[in-house]
Amino acid sequence: MEEPQRGTEEGGESACSLHRVCPECGRLSDTAPPPAVCERCGTPLGSLGQD
Ligand SMILES: [Zn+2]
Repeated sequence: MEEPQRGTEEGGESACSLHRVCPECGRLSDTAPPPAVCERCGTPLGSLGQD
């Protein structure tokens, strides 16, 4: 029986990936751990949008 798991929010994965997506160019870093800065434009990742 498959029953819906309450408390498990769908789309949570996207939230976990936010720190891996460049806010400037949208590049998704697929490396682990993700780089401190965007590999494309050099924008710091994970340090923006937390204000
Ligand atoms: Zn970028």
